[in-house]
Amino acid sequence: MLKKIPLRIRFTIIASLFLLISCVTLTLLSNVSAGSMMEAVAVIPAMGEDAVPAIPLEPARTLNEQYYRIFQQETGFATAVIVLAGSIATYFAAGYVLKPIRLLSSEVQKRNVGNLDEPIAIPQSADEIRQLTLSFNQMMSDLQRSFLLQKEFSANAAHELRTPLTVMRAKLDVFALEGDGNPEIRELITALDQQLERLSSLIEDLLWFSRDLPLENTEPVPLYPLLCDIAEELSSLSSEKGIEIQIEQTDDYVLGQDRLLERVFYNLLENAVKYSAPDTQVSVAIEKKEDTVQVQVADQGEGIPEAYRDAVFEPFFRVDKSRSRAVGGSGLGLAVCKRILERHHARICVLPNQPIGSIFQITFPA
Ligand code: ADP
Repeated sequence: MLKKIPLRIRFTIIASLFLLISCVTLTLLSNVSAGSMMEAVAVIPAMGEDAVPAIPLEPARTLNEQYYRIFQQETGFATAVIVLAGSIATYFAAGYVLKPIRLLSSEVQKRNVGNLDEPIAIPQSADEIRQLTLSFNQMMSDLQRSFLLQKEFSANAAHELRTPLTVMRAKLDVFALEGDGNPEIRELITALDQQLERLSSLIEDLLWFSRDLPLENTEPVPLYPLLCDIAEELSSLSSEKGIEIQIEQTDDYVLGQDRLLERVFYNLLENAVKYSAPDTQVSVAIEKKEDTVQVQVADQGEGIPEAYRDAVFEPFFRVDKSRSRAVGGSGLGLAVCKRILERHHARICVLPNQPIGSIFQITFPA
């Protein structure tokens, strides 16, 4: 049960219990010893042969008993005061002793994947906290190095894959021109073309994901024209499924890089169309609030189960692997969106749509 209470309170309770046990034992012992001394003081004067007690035996005993009761009360009171004062002093002392741990814990809480390269200041002391801080900093720097290596690896791999892919596409185009008349070859070329298209979009996503592009040259990006352009780009996919993309007309804009924001909305609208049943609707609503601009992309697709609503933003996560592969997904689209939005200090989350479907909600700072 003690394990559930904060360290400071735990320390205070344990120290107070020790203090209580020691003080009560000491008080009991002194009371017992005072009791036997009281008997001796009353009896000794009466035992001398010639001695005439100043006070007769019985009145002396009554007087002693009175003093003894006063003594008991006083020691009891002193015990209570000492235990109380000791507990309060322990509480403050524990706070003082545990302060470095509190500071370290608040510094650790501030660390995330974005600031692993900022080490925690090493305390001047030569105690366990200093050792703990050194070990934590070492762990962060190892993590940072491994993150960088991973990123570099995927960026290089994606980059290296781009060139052969471009060559393959060019050769396929030439081949398509030559074998245009043969239906079997045409079918083969279409299948190859689709797979090459998938591969290049996966490579593009990988590149986007691994590049740490600084957010420079930000400018006001008007949302309505941007969204209309994307809807236009997706029109062949959406009209194939009989899906209508509705965009609320607005003058609102957000500060950012239009190329990056285009990527975000393209991914979201493409997903909305991809994961929706034919003849449904996809709508985009934009709302300017006091200090935020909120964009909601809503669809009437199958929706995302509650348990996966955070995981869909992880790289390569798919709710239904076979369905995602069938629609040509790489599993990186939403992870890329989240990354780009983080650089814009914006948040993204997914909510259930009523009665069916999902709403991807982005909140930009105004
Ligand atoms: P993918 O390339 O597979 O679409 P994303 O990162 O874009 O990868 O999406 C991750 C997963 O989230 C998808 O595989 C899909 O299962 C789910 N998902 C994304 N958008 C939607 C949506 N609008 N409706 C239902 N499921 C979605």
